[in-house]
Amino acid sequence: MTQTTLQDIVIVGGGTAGWMTAAALSRLLQNKYRIRLVESDEISTIGVGESTIPMIRLFNHVLGINEDEFVRETKATFKLGIEFEDWNRVGERYMHGFGKFGRDLGTVEFFHYWLRAHLAGRAPDLERYSINRLAARASKFMRPTDEVKDSPLSDIVYAFHLDAGLYARYLRKYAEAHGVVRTEGKIVDVRQRAGDGHVASVVLENGDAIAGDLFIDCSGFRGLLIEQTLQTGFEDWSHWLPCDRAWAVPCELASDLLPYTRATARPAGWQWRIGLQHRTGNGHVYSSRHMSDDEAAAILMRSLDGKPLAEPRLLRFTAGRRNKAWNKNVVAIGLSSGFLEPLESTSIYLIQSGIQRLISLFPDAGFDAADIDEYNRQGDFEIERIRDFIILHYHATERADTPFWNHVRTMEIPETLRRKIDMFRSHGRVVRENNELFTEIGWQQVLHGQGVRPRAAHPLAGLLDDAQLADFLGTTERVVGKCVEVMPSHKEFVAAVAKAGR
Ligand SMILES: Cc1cc2nc3c(=O)[nH]c(=O)nc-3n(C[C@H](O)[C@H](O)[C@H](O)COP(=O)(O)OP(=O)(O)OC[C@H]3O[C@@H](n4cnc5c(N)ncnc54)[C@H](O)[C@@H]3O)c2cc1C
Repeated sequence: MTQTTLQDIVIVGGGTAGWMTAAALSRLLQNKYRIRLVESDEISTIGVGESTIPMIRLFNHVLGINEDEFVRETKATFKLGIEFEDWNRVGERYMHGFGKFGRDLGTVEFFHYWLRAHLAGRAPDLERYSINRLAARASKFMRPTDEVKDSPLSDIVYAFHLDAGLYARYLRKYAEAHGVVRTEGKIVDVRQRAGDGHVASVVLENGDAIAGDLFIDCSGFRGLLIEQTLQTGFEDWSHWLPCDRAWAVPCELASDLLPYTRATARPAGWQWRIGLQHRTGNGHVYSSRHMSDDEAAAILMRSLDGKPLAEPRLLRFTAGRRNKAWNKNVVAIGLSSGFLEPLESTSIYLIQSGIQRLISLFPDAGFDAADIDEYNRQGDFEIERIRDFIILHYHATERADTPFWNHVRTMEIPETLRRKIDMFRSHGRVVRENNELFTEIGWQQVLHGQGVRPRAAHPLAGLLDDAQLADFLGTTERVVGKCVEVMPSHKEFVAAVAKAGR
């Protein structure tokens, strides 16, 4: 049997998704394919998307990007986790820190030993055993080091806060240097092949047609190819995630440079604060069924840490996913494939994971249905588990102070999430299926932070007697605390990286 390789790849859209895809394909396909990217200066990119998760470091690594240069070019800061304020009850806060908690001790995970002591009133907050969370509280940061054997300093796990516009520009430079050809122009028509309906070319306003074998739709919410042309359909999740709008505005930097994202619950949604080197990014995500645009804007503007640097921008969206992210010869990556609000900063990661899956299931010109189905199956699983995690933050709450919180607290939730909550309520266990994105300890932190309490600890945490348990937890807490003491401040660390490039 002969195999026909495809030749021409056309990426539609030059936002974060388009340029991440262009950069990755230009590197990984080694100039064996022609890659073109079409974007319109008339249609602006979404321009937000500033908080990431640690997987972005793998993306940088695959691209061979120098991290210090990346931090300088995107005005990035470092991120150790996300702080949630007022989510379970007004006045309460907790953090979802990346990385490990405590130390390994054989039979069960650290969390279960802690839980046993905590349920007996003999252990402080979980935070005291996490290098990420303690360092975040102290506004400290350094990259992990193996200099001291078995030290929590080797467990630091981080991501970045970055300027989305600068990031797209940085990746564009990279992709063009690796052979991607950019065409500026507004696509006004899409031609399909007779017979199978595959996209044959996109037609620009000036009449030029750009033909391709594989099209990657990175055109944002409009889904120019995947939806407007192929009418793939969308599964709407707004009954679980009613927030459908956001106001976004940058403001002057506050004096402290926090190494974490702040997510503060509001009467009908929540507000983000993300400190970059040159400004703070802010946004108020809310449900338009429960709050007017004017009220939402007013809440955001009166809670800024510094002077606004622009007029606030209104963004509209619907939570959900495309019925098929890959349909015929079109693969939707980025906002065209679906959207989950940025509560756990997962959209840029989902772009990365879409690219990764495309590479592993890369088609030839035959576009085998088995490959396409597998791509869609894996993507559906991944985004549905992330969706559940985000719903958890809303649903597991004691808040009953507004119609919005009453709605999310009492709504029906997906069965998959119900099972996770029930398992945790039983003995604090979380079962991570098929490499789903968030780790056991990620779920455990949020479940605990949102006030869900296990009835009992893991029975095998009782393998240690009380004295052994107290000794183990006490030593761990002291060691983590000492490690944080020696870390530099986040502000100093960022300044040193920025200065090194001058
Ligand atoms: C309120 C909000 C906050 C967010 N915060 C985060 C966050 O903290 N972390 C995170 O990971 N993600 C976040 N995201 C998501 C993140 O912004 C997006 O995943 C990311 O920017 C990718 O967008 P995109 O490239 O798919 O689309 P866009 O940025 O919309 O780009 C679309 C591109 O398509 C082009 N285009 C469209 N139509 C045409 C046409 N007819 N002809 C030619 N070109 C065309 C446009 O010119 C543009 O270049 C957030 C999103 C929202 C809405």
